[in-house]
Amino acid sequence: MSGPSSNETGGLYDLTIIGGGPAGMYAAFYAGMRDMKVKLIEGKNELGGFLHHYAEKMIWDVGGIPPLRCDGLIERLAEQARTFEPVIVFGQRVDGLETLPGGAYRLRTDTGESHDTKTILVAVGRGITEMTRLNIQGADRYELTNLHYTVQNPESFRDKRVLISGGGNSAVDWANELADVAKQVIVVHRREEFGAMERSVSSMLQVADVRTPYELHGLHGAGDVIGAVSIAHIESGDKEMIEVDAVVVSHGYTRSYGDLLEWGLDIGKHGIHVSDQTATNLPGIFAAGDCASYSNKVKLIAGAFTDAVLAVNSAMSYIDAEAPNMAYVSSHNEKFREMNKQLLHASKAVEMQ
Ligand SMILES: Cc1cc2nc3c(=O)[nH]c(=O)nc-3n(C[C@H](O)[C@H](O)[C@H](O)COP(=O)(O)OP(=O)(O)OC[C@H]3O[C@@H](n4cnc5c(N)ncnc54)[C@H](O)[C@@H]3O)c2cc1C
Repeated sequence: MSGPSSNETGGLYDLTIIGGGPAGMYAAFYAGMRDMKVKLIEGKNELGGFLHHYAEKMIWDVGGIPPLRCDGLIERLAEQARTFEPVIVFGQRVDGLETLPGGAYRLRTDTGESHDTKTILVAVGRGITEMTRLNIQGADRYELTNLHYTVQNPESFRDKRVLISGGGNSAVDWANELADVAKQVIVVHRREEFGAMERSVSSMLQVADVRTPYELHGLHGAGDVIGAVSIAHIESGDKEMIEVDAVVVSHGYTRSYGDLLEWGLDIGKHGIHVSDQTATNLPGIFAAGDCASYSNKVKLIAGAFTDAVLAVNSAMSYIDAEAPNMAYVSSHNEKFREMNKQLLHASKAVEMQ
């Protein structure tokens, strides 16, 4: 999923999508149905957006998809996004916006690159997410081994002594989940209270060794592997050493729109104000997904899909006022005719085996 999908990123695009979360990925697919020349720019090195924060969780509420682990959903969305081979640019955070003569836009990114486009779809969720790193000198040297900021694969903690630092939803969920596979789960939290659902907290109290009010004080190890952790009591400062095989830090994250705030977009408390056609106050710039704000907005994956369709259709009409106001549905869309033949042929071949 990672890495640029094309080196040919130059030229003027019909639509440039900023953000590779559910809204951006679905927009890339749908814009392909409309024959648009599409580019998607993602600040991170992978598609998926906020879904990576709960990649190991089961997802039930996406239409037509039976319960599926979220990382599986990311894979499916990414595959669908690539159906019409859009250009996908990774590792560039879009910052700057300039208007070109004739009304097209030039986007500038933090790597110094620029991207020209007739229309823009802002699909940045709540912005670029950065995990809050541990404020202990030298902690980063353990990040390639056994210091984790997320739990992608609980199985990798099997039979280990795992210390989790944090007291929010993720910390509590991970403690409950890892208790099924780990040898021991220790939770260290600065406060007596946990910021998670009561039911999850009570089940954590039964399965984990919970230490409050404590904070992580030091990481100790041979080479680049943590072997023990010192924790300090918040009030007395008393320290204690605990032997561990892995440390998971869940101290929250920051999300920021960065320089997009300087573009002159009409942004309110809940995001970028858009019309019922997802148009922002700037011509040719649309917004979809969690960053778009309008009455009754649904901040769910399903809501992101709907916004994406509206935004792509609006961008198409902006470029060509004569264009039909939506794509032909996939059952009647000529673009799928050849692909359908191949898919039907492949499924018949499997049936005959
Ligand atoms: C804990 C939690 C659990 C959830 N569970 C569910 C669930 O079970 N079902 C459900 O339907 N919804 C769920 N949601 C909501 C769902 O995750 C969001 O609605 C969805 O991720 C929104 O998608 P998006 O594409 O708008 O934004 P995001 O998923 O946030 O994606 C935005 C992307 O834009 C990129 N980006 C941001 N700024 C820039 C920039 N300047 N330049 C380039 N790239 C940029 C980011 O890196 C990111 O990849 C949950 C949310 C949370 C917080």
